[in-house]
This record gives sequence, structure tokens and C-alpha cells, in this order.
Amino acid sequence: MDEKAANELPECLMCSLVESNGPESGWVFEEEHWLGGVLPGFEVPGWLIVTVRRHVEGPFNLNDVEAKSLGGMIRRVSGAINDLMAPDRVYQVAMSERWPHWHFPILARPKWVPPEGRGLAYMDACKDMIDVPEALRIADELRTALR
Ligand SMILES: [Zn+2]
Repeated sequence: MDEKAANELPECLMCSLVESNGPESGWVFEEEHWLGGVLPGFEVPGWLIVTVRRHVEGPFNLNDVEAKSLGGMIRRVSGAINDLMAPDRVYQVAMSERWPHWHFPILARPKWVPPEGRGLAYMDACKDMIDVPEALRIADELRTALR
């Protein structure tokens, strides 16, 4: 999905998935407070989009229980990606510019990415790295690892 198309969506994709049955490929993990999955338009191998189940505008809105569980969730999910893919880095990024909602990716940045393509440049390259079958294959392995 290109940026223009995404900006024309009538509502936040992640919020609509949380309120319905989740992504077509299913959630990769469903915890008491957290959900993560491969979202349409972001099917890059090793990319999961994560959200707290309760709608919040930013981490400043987490309640005490959600805040205490955040670190463990990030450790589990980033650890599973790291163990499975052995990437150079596992990124966690949240900017919330499209909607004032707090959803964020936890994603593998492979070793082959050249220095100029790392960091925020890697996020911008998402649309060029979409590989639906491989993203869903990795998601299945992560789903098993996170059970
Ligand atoms: Zn949202």
C-alpha cells in the first residue's frame, strides 16, 4: 500500500483489525494486553505491528499493568525475531504521525542492508521489501515460538 492510499483510508487499519477479527493471516501473538501481527501493506519478513489491546494515543496513556507488561512483551517478541532470523538489529519504532494512536512495529533489520539504508531510511523502504509469502512463513514460525 503506498503512502497516498494509506492516508486515504477512512480509519486506522490497526484499530479496525483490533475491533474486528484481526488480520486475515491471524494474530502472531495475542497476550492479555498486547496483540501483534502482519498487517496488509507491511508484509515484510520479520516485521510485526504491535498494539496494546486498549486504545491509547501514546505510551503516556498506558495504565500501570500495561506499562509493567510492556518490557516483557518487547523482550519476548524481539527475542523471538532475533532467535529466528539472526538479523543485524531488531528495531522498535513509534511515531504515530498518521493517527494519534499507539501502534508500533517490532522488526528485523537484516545484515545485508547498506549503512545508508538503515535506521529511519529502512522504515521508508518498507514498500520495496514486501514479500507476502516469506513474511507469512516467518510469521508462522514466530507464532509457534511465541506460544
Ligand atoms: Zn489506530
